[in-house]
Amino acid sequence: MSNHPAWMAGHLPPTPPPRRPGLLRRIADAIGGYTTYCCPEITCDVRVRVRGLEPGEARRYQELAADHSQHRRKSG
Ligand SMILES: [Zn+2]
Repeated sequence: MSNHPAWMAGHLPPTPPPRRPGLLRRIADAIGGYTTYCCPEITCDVRVRVRGLEPGEARRYQELAADHSQHRRKSG
């Protein structure tokens, strides 16, 4: 994924991994035929849950999950 030489690795800001819903959520999604997308902000609890996704729509919903004026704080 990265085009940088190995010696640069320690000098670059870390790239956060894409956020994935928890295992239980993914199992529930798989059973129900849903896909859950999380807001990329780690402190934010906004999720978008969709069913019957067309190929190519995933990106749109990923953007939708990140598109809100105010991040919602996780409670607890
Ligand atoms: Zn958010």
